[in-house]
Amino acid sequence: MSHQAKGTTPVLIVGAGPVGLLLGLQLQRFGIPHRLIDKRPQRQTFSKAFAIHSRSMEVLEDLGLLEQLLARAVRVEQMNIYSNRKRLITYNLGQLDVPYPFTASIPQNCVEEILETRYLESGGRIERGIELHSLIQNEHAAHATLNDERGNRQSLECTLVAGCDGGFSHVRKASGIAFDGAPYKRPYIIADGTLSWKGENSSGHVFTSGDGYMMLFPLPGGKHRVVIDCEDSTLTTADLNIERVNARLHERGFEDITLSDPVWLSVTTFQHRLAEQYRVGRFFLAGDACHVHSPIGGQGLNTGLQDAYNLSWKIAHVLNHDASQTLLDSYQAERRPVAQTVLKNTQQQMHMLNMKHPLLRLLRDALVPTLATTRRFQNRIMKQVTGFQIDYATTLLAPQARQTVEQGPLTGQRMPDGTVLEQNGDARRLFELLKGIHYSLFVFEDNTPDSEAHCQQIAHALSAARWPANFLRAYLIRIPASTDSTISAGFEARYDMTDVLREQLGVKNGGLFLVRPDGYLALRCDLEQGAQLNSYFERFYPAFTAAKRLYSVPTALPVTG
Ligand SMILES: Cc1cc2nc3c(=O)[nH]c(=O)nc-3n(C[C@H](O)[C@H](O)[C@H](O)COP(=O)(O)OP(=O)(O)OC[C@H]3O[C@@H](n4cnc5c(N)ncnc54)[C@H](O)[C@@H]3O)c2cc1C
Repeated sequence: MSHQAKGTTPVLIVGAGPVGLLLGLQLQRFGIPHRLIDKRPQRQTFSKAFAIHSRSMEVLEDLGLLEQLLARAVRVEQMNIYSNRKRLITYNLGQLDVPYPFTASIPQNCVEEILETRYLESGGRIERGIELHSLIQNEHAAHATLNDERGNRQSLECTLVAGCDGGFSHVRKASGIAFDGAPYKRPYIIADGTLSWKGENSSGHVFTSGDGYMMLFPLPGGKHRVVIDCEDSTLTTADLNIERVNARLHERGFEDITLSDPVWLSVTTFQHRLAEQYRVGRFFLAGDACHVHSPIGGQGLNTGLQDAYNLSWKIAHVLNHDASQTLLDSYQAERRPVAQTVLKNTQQQMHMLNMKHPLLRLLRDALVPTLATTRRFQNRIMKQVTGFQIDYATTLLAPQARQTVEQGPLTGQRMPDGTVLEQNGDARRLFELLKGIHYSLFVFEDNTPDSEAHCQQIAHALSAARWPANFLRAYLIRIPASTDSTISAGFEARYDMTDVLREQLGVKNGGLFLVRPDGYLALRCDLEQGAQLNSYFERFYPAFTAAKRLYSVPTALPVTG
């Protein structure tokens, strides 16, 4: 084994699975130099996860990848749950008021290919066949030792290390972070192939009975995923063939269902575990490295992508803009509770679906259809699964007391899409304005005489602020024809409000919405509370304050009119 020269990098990403790739892509967008290594010589070629949920689609839209993804995916709007083949619930994602109210079903290897292609096109380089061997840190740096396939060893000094290295994460082990939990008792047979069934082929179906669980889900190319639990805990992937899959289906009473032309067959035992910490000093964990759970609801991949999306802008702002370390601490504060909820929900769902006791099943079968007919129940479950229940309000990045509002998102919640109008009447989506790596500040005018003065103050403060390039874009959203306001300095653009948007966001009295680069509201306040923006930036970007680059609105605005 030979030692090579020592290298340095601001960020080492360990693992080029979907989570590491998304993190790499984001750091690339932010212009953060990094290295992305993976011990595998090639990208994996089988499907594993297949469900991309609505919120993840919004993230991929921000990255400019959604069109490609949807071109290769099938859209699935409905999921049916059965007990002994009697339908208990139908979840209809089409009811969700979001831009992409469906699940995009696409094998994980295709998602990875899409991410990897963009990463390489944008100048990234994946170092395959390079394994993290050891990792230590001190107050000055992290030190990694990497091995290549020929046994050459390289030392690397890094500022931060992101462990996106899956369930057996080396970074997690090197950090000494506990990963408590347990394996599920039964293994699952996972089979992708051509389905022969007279049932409804374009929806997802979950069948439960006293014998266990079986799921069917459409995949692109006319294929389906079949997941069925398996009593034989000695069965391995090597023993599995399509005949055994069909035998298991038929033995469980699904004689009318047959799978052929298998694309991928696997026997997998899932675990439920959560990392005690997501950050230890310079080491961070994301994706399966910090949470693993049952694949029910397709949460693993989606949660991991959101981890990377959350972590990336924080790393970038700390390294590029000297942002406070609190920003990095907020990663764990925001993302760990999300995984905790995913674990709790998937555990409950597994429990509900795998009930063995006939009386409990009877109770479940009687109660669930009644509960499930309520729109509220359906919406809650669908929002949980699709990623819209996420609320970062109580964490470090939302220090101000949260306003109660009649309608629309609160501080810490996702900024929804909506429409504003250009001066010529053309519609612009809010998501188009959010797209990119910047904070977005929306200043919504209201009809009161004070509104003009408040907006003017904000405009002055914005013009005086000397932000770094691409740090913040401000938009003035006007009440159409309300005044002859000429305010424009400091704003990227002015648009007219629509009635629908005013209702949707609850801004009939105006308001300020500061949206983070990951699309969540950093702050929502009234127009006259513009000074709250000062406290936000002072708190998280102290270097700007020191360099007097900060946006500054007087705490008490002189109001005219
Ligand atoms: C059989 C199977 C079926 C699944 N089905 C579903 C599903 O239906 N729905 C769902 O949501 N989820 C499913 N999952 C889970 C889903 O695949 C994961 O949540 C997802 O892959 C997590 O991505 P990741 O990038 O965090 O980790 P991974 O995809 O595991 O990627 C980690 C990467 O790190 C690399 N690596 C590891 N150690 C090192 C090291 N020391 N040095 C360098 N590189 C290293 C690995 O080679 C790998 O490429 C399934 C998983 C499996 C195994």
